Amino acid sequence: GKTSPPKPYTEATLLRAMETAGKQVDDEELREMMKNNGIGRPSTRANIIETLFRRKYIERKKKNIFATSTGVELIDTIQDELLKSPELTGEWESKLRKIERGEYDASQFKEELIEMVTNLTRSVINEKAKVISFQEEIQPKQKKEATPRKNVAIIWEETDCPKCKENKLMKGKTAIGCSNYKGCGFKIPFLLFGKKLTEKQIHDLITKGKSSKLKGFTEHPEGLSEGILRLTNDFLLDLKID
Ligand SMILES: [Zn+2]
Repeated sequence: GKTSPPKPYTEATLLRAMETAGKQVDDEELREMMKNNGIGRPSTRANIIETLFRRKYIERKKKNIFATSTGVELIDTIQDELLKSPELTGEWESKLRKIERGEYDASQFKEELIEMVTNLTRSVINEKAKVISFQEEIQPKQKKEATPRKNVAIIWEETDCPKCKENKLMKGKTAIGCSNYKGCGFKIPFLLFGKKLTEKQIHDLITKGKSSKLKGFTEHPEGLSEGILRLTNDFLLDLKID
């Protein structure tokens, strides 16, 4: 008692559809022009699809591709029909062929392009701002990939002491320090100026001589609450604003 909707595109059929976008164009002359063109160039078509995925305008469900609500709303906000139709490419190609044959003036074509872009830009600026919802449709596969954050454990016993350069470091209860602490004296406490440092932050300090910008210091003698930690020439710790 009812018709069925057209089959959803797969990546392969979408690529094919882009190649032959001219088939949907009603005007015969334009269709002829688009036969060899389609949407995009052969070298850029796959990239165009990738961009649509990256911007979450389309999504994969098994092998099939569907427009997301963001994609549908985006198309909806473009008021100028020409901008979202394959005819635009066809029209341009048609005129380029005419220029080739000396039947159309190149500078006039350029003028037309400038005028069109100017008008489109003006109408977009003057339109009332429309908000496009950005829904992140999480697929189980992506979720799975996002969870295990690679937290590479730091092996202190294989890291050289920056001060004496003779001994390795070791992790104690309250600090990372030289394994010959009595002779060398180097250590970085986990709790510094009232902030608990992570092993990664301490590792950065030791290997790069400074940390990234850190926040949450509560007991700095000069009252600094954030800044960059540096290892001084005497291998002491110094907190500065930047
Ligand atoms: Zn040492």
